[in-house]
Amino acid sequence: MLFGYHVSTAGGLHNAFKDAEELTCDVIQIFIGSPQVWQTPQVSDKEIEKFKTAWKNSRVKQVLVHSAYLPNPASHKMTLRNFSLKKLKEEAKIAYRIGADGYNFHCGSNQNSNQEGVKLAIKTLNRLAELTDEKWPVRLIIENDAGAGNRIGDTIEELGAIWKGIKNKKRFGFCLDTCHLFVSGTDLRTQKNISDLLRKFDRLIGLKHLKFIHMNDARRGCGLGSKKDRHANIGKGEIGAQAFKNWLHTAKLRKLPFILETPRTGNIKEDIKDIKLLRKLAK
Ligand SMILES: [Zn+2]
Ligand SMILES: [Zn+2]
Repeated sequence: MLFGYHVSTAGGLHNAFKDAEELTCDVIQIFIGSPQVWQTPQVSDKEIEKFKTAWKNSRVKQVLVHSAYLPNPASHKMTLRNFSLKKLKEEAKIAYRIGADGYNFHCGSNQNSNQEGVKLAIKTLNRLAELTDEKWPVRLIIENDAGAGNRIGDTIEELGAIWKGIKNKKRFGFCLDTCHLFVSGTDLRTQKNISDLLRKFDRLIGLKHLKFIHMNDARRGCGLGSKKDRHANIGKGEIGAQAFKNWLHTAKLRKLPFILETPRTGNIKEDIKDIKLLRKLAK
């Protein structure tokens, strides 16, 4: 099975593999530059080569790029949607150039209605696919949201509605985040709820389009249906280790890459505990 972390690229994208090695990652996720700013850093061909060489010399099988936090493809404001499209395009381009297996993002929010949000997210994402189709066709990965406020894409039904509107379906895939599922109301603590969830996903989207899993516990106080997106280390939060064990023993999920976005201390001995626990629970 494939396990890994969101790793640091401080000092250059290729440094991801140093962090990855220490954390024994089979798969990693990275940001292209700071997730808090609109500006996308220039990445030279030389830096791309360095990244690819470091990847080849590592045990990492797959790389997922996570978008910056700012884009909002579903916004009711056209200017923000256009800004978002530009940002997503720039990052998708770099994700393609480094050879990433996917470019992961959220659908954003809409202040008028969820219905309008779904419609506009579809429009932005179809345009994003068109703009990158020819030269930078990296797989575009839609992540489920925690659902606070007017966030779009927290339920499988809403993800299904977005999927229905996507024109070029082979360009897209999905990522499910365990913390977001739980705080938006899916109780992962029973095998029955996990089966129901996956059956619904299969009916409305198709399980073959599920490409990545984010493995996060939900911080204490961020309970079932709370819509509060605060990640906790595995087994240290509201979801709990047994739920992760059930999740990891679900046959339909076992071939997928599991990526941790849990809090890090900077101390490897501490930080590596999550991946060790996942490997243990998966046995
Ligand atoms: Zn996530
Ligand atoms: Zn989250």
